[in-house]
Amino acid sequence: MILMHLCCGPCSLYPIKVLRARRISFKGFFYNPNLHPYREFRERIKALETVQKIKELEIIWDKGYGLRDFLEKTFEFKDKPEKRCEICYTWRLKATVKKALEIKAEAFTTTLLYSIYQKHELIKEIAEDLSNHYKIPFFYEDFRKGFKEGLEEAKKLGLYLQGYCGCIFSEEERYYKKLK
Ligand code: SF4
Repeated sequence: MILMHLCCGPCSLYPIKVLRARRISFKGFFYNPNLHPYREFRERIKALETVQKIKELEIIWDKGYGLRDFLEKTFEFKDKPEKRCEICYTWRLKATVKKALEIKAEAFTTTLLYSIYQKHELIKEIAEDLSNHYKIPFFYEDFRKGFKEGLEEAKKLGLYLQGYCGCIFSEEERYYKKLK
């Protein structure tokens, strides 16, 4: 069984399809303290709960809202997206690895590998390092090839589609700087 970190509902659809088509058993793990503000965090949880229902998924939820912890970890890198995202990915993937070891999963992966807007190579590199360090296989798949397909399905299901990556800085980058 694989533990798949789930970043949100829309990004989960295609990876779920891939794993099911290959008859790979998996559980989902929601751990995203990078999502702000709180109403956005709730919207994304709601969308994933819809996916959970429709796809009959087993998900381990961590619904703790992590604004303060996130800021503590990343504030000094607020204007250095590469470093900030590295901390953010490592944080979420390390929690996934620890959960995978705790529940005795055979491997781990993440739906972060689906989005064409994420730093794919950095995510892969961090996951491989964690895999070596914690001695648990990382299931790698370039889920980006199904980006269009997943997006179409999300629209059909009427899922909430987020306009920015997740943290408060990415919200600013997406809207405030553009408006200025
Ligand atoms: S832009 Fe996305 S990946 Fe980067 S720190 Fe913000 S939430 Fe995390």
